[in-house]
Amino acid sequence: MKESLQKRTHRLLSSNHLQAKKKYGQNYLTDANVIERIVDTSQVDESTTVIEIGPGLGALTQKLLEKSKQVIAYEIDATLIPVLNREFSESPHFILKHQDILKTSIDEDLKALGLTKQDPIVVVANLPYYITTPILTKLLEESTMINRYTLMAQYEVARRLTADTNTKDYNALSVFMHYKTTPSFAFKVSKNVFMPPPNVDSAIITLTTKKPPKIENEAFFLDFVQRAFKQKRKTLANNISAGYNVDKARVNALLEAEGFATNIRAEGIDVKGFIKLSEAFYTTLYVTHET
Ligand code: SAM
Repeated sequence: MKESLQKRTHRLLSSNHLQAKKKYGQNYLTDANVIERIVDTSQVDESTTVIEIGPGLGALTQKLLEKSKQVIAYEIDATLIPVLNREFSESPHFILKHQDILKTSIDEDLKALGLTKQDPIVVVANLPYYITTPILTKLLEESTMINRYTLMAQYEVARRLTADTNTKDYNALSVFMHYKTTPSFAFKVSKNVFMPPPNVDSAIITLTTKKPPKIENEAFFLDFVQRAFKQKRKTLANNISAGYNVDKARVNALLEAEGFATNIRAEGIDVKGFIKLSEAFYTTLYVTHET
């Protein structure tokens, strides 16, 4: 009979004298059905290059290797490297990098492997929860080669990453996701399918990358969105007026000129609206017109 994932996880941990490390967010998946659903959701096929962040003991990696062209896995924990190398020693399509994903130049690594923007490249990962947002922000800002992300995140975070306007979860991070990708909530995952179980439930999301709309001043747009959500109960006019130390009447006039109600809150504005407003605001306040 085939060994269960639970047994495999116990066996690999004890035979290698390992314990799940909290500091690296190690919660191992031990449910074959959930892994199957993740791989189905990721839509990988024999032409796909998969980047896996945090392969751990390789539970998800196994399935990804069966379905894809190759798996490039980034693992920070030195003690897992020999275990993974042994587990996948017969797999020529497994490329293991003992590296912190936050200190990696993904596109350079991909190019060094001969990959180009034309190749189907996706990320599939059960992310370490303590750094979900930094990882996503870094990859979405830096990489132009990744087509799609299929990710496990904490349930609450997954809701925010994929939230639409006028929902309680919609925040600055949601706007950023809609700016860079088409985000979608896939399914909820019980905390009981992990070893050790985390404190909260999780969920799978997908992010399909897209060419972001052109923005004159992207840094200002991102800052504007942050400040707009500073105090969620307040109107956008109040947050922006306080955030940039600008008279509220001026902010109201600008909102009206751009076709927004003066009492609108940040949660009612989609990414297009934010781009429009931040550009208008930047031009009015900071760009001096020479005569
Ligand atoms: N993929 C495995 C699974 O599903 O059972 C393990 C997932 S576990 C939630 C997260 C993994 O990410 C761990 O293996 C951990 O060591 C690794 N990790 C944590 N921080 C990392 C980092 N900065 N760069 C690369 N891997 C990291």
